[in-house]
Amino acid sequence: MLGTMRQITERDRKNLTAALERSGLRATRQREQVFGVLVSQRDHPTAEEVFARARKQLSTISLATVYNCLETLVECDLIKKLNYEREPSRYCPNHGEHAHFLDEATGRVFDIDIPKDFHETLTTILPKGFAANKIKLSFSGRVEPEAAERQSNSSASTVWEHIDQPNNQTKQNRSR
Ligand SMILES: [Zn+2]
Repeated sequence: MLGTMRQITERDRKNLTAALERSGLRATRQREQVFGVLVSQRDHPTAEEVFARARKQLSTISLATVYNCLETLVECDLIKKLNYEREPSRYCPNHGEHAHFLDEATGRVFDIDIPKDFHETLTTILPKGFAANKIKLSFSGRVEPEAAERQSNSSASTVWEHIDQPNNQTKQNRSR
């Protein structure tokens, strides 16, 4: 298996290439490797963890390159960067609507699926004249070990709906 890319599906590769091209970038071996690490194990790793996994298959990759690749993938909207206080950033490739749950004891971050009309319901609390483009839902607390096991096995759905078609928002308007 030496030299082969991490389990990246044709669809993932296509989306990667298309998203990079839209930003005028090429799909390099390093970018593909870093992206492959993220989609093959969806546990919201830190850059250091991505580096440790990526170098198993691409031994020449450096931590600096991993950081660069991650930034590029974030800018191309392929992955999301999650920031927690006093913790290194974590990265998420899930494009479906979902919330995050931080297990305060272990630092693990879980994807929690959000029902379709949930965002709409939430926006009803907004005062008149406030139009939200984006809602970020983030929980933190305690996760029982069995529940953690169940949740990681259920591997929250990966939906590419926002990525297959070009993004209609301009980069400048988008908040991070
Ligand atoms: Zn996530």
